[in-house]
Amino acid sequence: IRSHTCCDRKLPCVAWSGVSKRIPVLLFCAEAIVSKDVAIRSVGEKYNLAFKIVRTESRLVRGILVNHGFHEVHPNSNDFNLMWTGSHLKPYLLRSLQDFQKVNHFPRSFELTRKDRLYKNIQRMQQTHGFQNFHIVPQTFVLPAEYQEFSSSFSKDKGAWIIKPVASSRGRGIYLVSSPSQIPLDENILVSRYISNPLLIDGFKFDVRLYVLVTSYDPLLIYLYEEGLARFATVKYDHATANIKNQFMHLTNYSVNKKSSDYVSCDDPEVEDYGNKWSMSAMLRYLRQEGKDTTLLMGQIEDLIVKALLSAEIHIATACKMFVPHRCNCFELYGFDVLIDSNLKPWLLEVNLSPSLACDAPLDLKIKASMISDMFSLVGFVCQDPLLRQPRPDRAGIDSRMKNPTQKLQDKALSLLRRAQEEYDRRGGFVRIFPTPDTWELYSVAFIILFCVVPSALFCSLISWLFVLVPPSCSKVQARMAFSSYLHRVQLRLLAESRANMGPELVVRFLKRASSNLRQDMCLEEPSRLLCLSDRQRILSHQLGNFIQLYNQETKQMVESLDKIPNEDRCINSNVFQEFILEASESDLEEVLMFYTQKNKSASVFLGTKCDSSRVKRTSDENRESERHFFIFYVPSHQLRMKYDTAHVIKECFNNRWWSERNSSPKNEKSVIIYSPPCHSKPIKQNPN
Ligand code: ADP
Repeated sequence: IRSHTCCDRKLPCVAWSGVSKRIPVLLFCAEAIVSKDVAIRSVGEKYNLAFKIVRTESRLVRGILVNHGFHEVHPNSNDFNLMWTGSHLKPYLLRSLQDFQKVNHFPRSFELTRKDRLYKNIQRMQQTHGFQNFHIVPQTFVLPAEYQEFSSSFSKDKGAWIIKPVASSRGRGIYLVSSPSQIPLDENILVSRYISNPLLIDGFKFDVRLYVLVTSYDPLLIYLYEEGLARFATVKYDHATANIKNQFMHLTNYSVNKKSSDYVSCDDPEVEDYGNKWSMSAMLRYLRQEGKDTTLLMGQIEDLIVKALLSAEIHIATACKMFVPHRCNCFELYGFDVLIDSNLKPWLLEVNLSPSLACDAPLDLKIKASMISDMFSLVGFVCQDPLLRQPRPDRAGIDSRMKNPTQKLQDKALSLLRRAQEEYDRRGGFVRIFPTPDTWELYSVAFIILFCVVPSALFCSLISWLFVLVPPSCSKVQARMAFSSYLHRVQLRLLAESRANMGPELVVRFLKRASSNLRQDMCLEEPSRLLCLSDRQRILSHQLGNFIQLYNQETKQMVESLDKIPNEDRCINSNVFQEFILEASESDLEEVLMFYTQKNKSASVFLGTKCDSSRVKRTSDENRESERHFFIFYVPSHQLRMKYDTAHVIKECFNNRWWSERNSSPKNEKSVIIYSPPCHSKPIKQNPN
């Protein structure tokens, strides 16, 4: 074990993390890119820190790492602290990561960064959580599959539409059409409603590039960088149809407009509002001078970012659970492109997988070098020599196998809280937008009410994070409803899955055990093993259906026999719960049940408690054993996926406070400083056109 001496404690550019604050984490500084300070390099060199760059080229990333004492290893080497790649990683590469190693992508990020997947995920949220709540992207169709739907939308509203390849970038292959006849039918393309009333500055259309950092999808942690870029078109905007082909007017991509002879660049890094690329804060200052409410605008942009990430969260979190061995292995910097319309409504155009880190202008370098340095500090590289593969001091010691499930859950929660707090302490210019102080506060209120836990002052804000880990409480009847719904999903899965990833023996065992606890007798027939698997599954699915019916009848009788169900008023509102049950996935339901079981230290409410003297009495150990295995059908590993639904349920419990607060609350202190800077009334010097 490498020990950290007291000399290490004096190291510059190091933050100490972990329970006993013994793990050194490197802090980056943007000046290193120009100053090449020996002291700054010393920590990286001392710990032999290494990186590799795969399938991409980034001078900026390389420069920052080298100037912090990292050395570059061959793309095939496994001895690295950071792998910086331009594309997704194969699962086997992710699986082999050690806990101190990091990669700059999450698995399945294409759920966000492919235009078609992004739209489909948001559309799903519109359907399940209300169209208005997720009306953050222009209406879009994926052709040729949705040609009919597109035609009928077009006939109702004959505006311009914009055509995009499903997975492309930098404006490539994008053009506007005013009639469906101009659309090719033999290609996979996206057709989106064209936002024809963009907000203009000096007559020019622009969009905003925002840098969004995610360090965890389970639970979700989102940071927005304080600075971004506003990118202007090179020809003044005029929405007359005659101009529809003019890319320099309608597209705001730098890669498109830099080809225009009208493109104006700016050589002075201190001037942020000149030419075709401005800093985002200069753009906001300008809008404020024009009397626009930029605090509201930025609030809506943050809201849009959180919602987009929530819509892909389930896919990415599930992939992480399957492929990523350690909680801190992945982080990702996304480039969000946002168009603001003349009503000051922001629209999400796309999410970029590897936002450009090219520094063509001094302003690029100024913004991006700080952003990348702050990002590296925030994600936190543990100072560990990749060639020394020994456990870190904090990890030796208590064997986690000795701990009971509750202790493990507590450990997990506390380590998440600590990690969130440590990241927050190293955030630099990143503003955490999820969870925000508002949502944290709300969660902690919910936590206190629902779990009657009064945290100490020190942990007050942190304990709230626990709420993300545990679903809210439900009543006995609700638990039975959840169980019935869970069984129903299992029943469907039995019918749908031809592959035997759910052994019929398990179902038989469950039915035998559970039907013995029904008040009514249920005739069980074990399908012959001579039958083929699909026939056995079909028969069992039918019997499970019968079981569910009887089980539901008993739940109904239970409701009728109780005037008022004890503790019902402290539980989730029944309409909300019904809604949740309808939408919840199998593992969401499992999570609720698991939590209920843990909380009540018994699963008897699902399995029944009918006493039958003729049956052999089980010992309490046997009881516990069977309860532990009551989720006998769940095969793939899973994780806590309740966060969104939890938030949704809390939203209802707190009279819509969650969404409404996100939309209207004042931003945290830092964003107020950032987004509403004092006006330096600098005259705008747009390109003279
Ligand atoms: P790419 O990934 O190729 O850059 P985008 O979706 O970002 O694709 O679109 C490129 C540009 O086209 C944007 O920067 C914006 O100026 C314009 N644009 C895209 N979609 C729309 C839309 N629905 N309405 C108005 N302008 C749009």
